[in-house]
Amino acid sequence: MLFARRGWSRTDYWLIRGSALLFGSALLFGALGLRVGAAQAARPPDVAHVDSPESGQQQAYSLPPEKLAKAIALGRIRNVVDIVGSLWGLVVLWLLMAHAAARMDAWTERTVRRRWLQGLLFFAIFIVVFSVASLPLGVFAHHVSLAYGISVQGWGSWLLDQAKSLGLSVVLATPVLLLFNWIVRRWPRRYWLAAWVATLPLLVLVLFVSPLLEPVFNDFEPLSKEHSNLVTELERVVARTGTNIPPERMFLMKASRKTTGLNAYVSGIGATKRIVVWDTTAGRIPNDEVMFVFGHESGHYVLNHIPKMIVLASVALFFVYWACAGFAAWLVARFGLRWGVKELSSRAGFLILLFAVSLAGFLMEPLSNTLSRHFEHEADVYGQEAIHGIVPDARKTAVAGFDALGEAWLEDPNPSPLIEFWEYDHPSVKTRANFAAQYDPWAKGGRGEFFAK
Ligand SMILES: [Zn+2]
Repeated sequence: MLFARRGWSRTDYWLIRGSALLFGSALLFGALGLRVGAAQAARPPDVAHVDSPESGQQQAYSLPPEKLAKAIALGRIRNVVDIVGSLWGLVVLWLLMAHAAARMDAWTERTVRRRWLQGLLFFAIFIVVFSVASLPLGVFAHHVSLAYGISVQGWGSWLLDQAKSLGLSVVLATPVLLLFNWIVRRWPRRYWLAAWVATLPLLVLVLFVSPLLEPVFNDFEPLSKEHSNLVTELERVVARTGTNIPPERMFLMKASRKTTGLNAYVSGIGATKRIVVWDTTAGRIPNDEVMFVFGHESGHYVLNHIPKMIVLASVALFFVYWACAGFAAWLVARFGLRWGVKELSSRAGFLILLFAVSLAGFLMEPLSNTLSRHFEHEADVYGQEAIHGIVPDARKTAVAGFDALGEAWLEDPNPSPLIEFWEYDHPSVKTRANFAAQYDPWAKGGRGEFFAK
């Protein structure tokens, strides 16, 4: 995925993989990981507090024995779901290309006359089939999160979220796929370049629009409504960071109907830019820790992580599209006859291009995740520096915040480094807590990276 919503935890990503699969692989050549999510729901987390250490020696993230056993078991399942989820989309696309696409195309041509209507019908069917095929994995993932108490969302509500997600995909992604299909027909040789040019404004549009779609899945209210004390505290962080985030841009998401996990995130650009704190977080962990989370989110703003991701993704997509055009041409030459696909510019041929781009997305996951982890680490440093001088002990607060995060999501304290490298879009909670525990640039009269003092 080239785009991650810049949040505080990685686990919400795992839980919404079902709908993300659909958006991630199908929409826009797989370039846009629009994570409008069916999130999860609530148990007041019994927050883990770090015992006050005497000498600045902090104890990083750990779990009591019975939770540790659960976290390790859940971690294994998450890894499998992550990998299977990535590969499953490719398998489904391959099966569709090899066995169904040409027939689907012929059927739409018999059914409606106008060419653009045929295209809409074809791609709408494709999206429906693709998401139905992803449903079993989503069901399994939801079953597991219910079993482990991470989710408290009933099956009816969960299915409704899936249906909404599918409806949105059909409405939003179908015309986009049609547009790209048209581009391939219009410029059969240099279509990848034209597609790249068309992708850039769409990337910006999706980032702009995604906060407007989030209320389809979750209720939001101004953070000041029930947490005015917290907002007052957060404004001290705002003043120190100079971010100029007014209270109107701070929202509370009613996540507790669906999950027990803690989270906060930034989304949107320009007029839709906002910071969202889940109601499982605000009021459930001490305000000092929410201020740290808020500082982390502010870091994404201040350090321009969203524009940087857009630029880097654009550069990467230029080469990805170019390489995928070559690979897709090879696939058609090699399998086209067998699959009944004569050229890439046909609708069935377009699925071959989608497959190529999805495969590239899978292979580039470690790269985009490494980049994402870098940004997340920067935001962690920024967050800790942002609360320095506001809370009594920034290190202690940060470590306690990570402890609460890890315990609420049952994050494995010792993930395999390979899995962390490939699948984690945030550093593991252990890594983050360990860093926070030793980060104290002010100890000998020094200063942090991002603040003068
Ligand atoms: Zn973040």
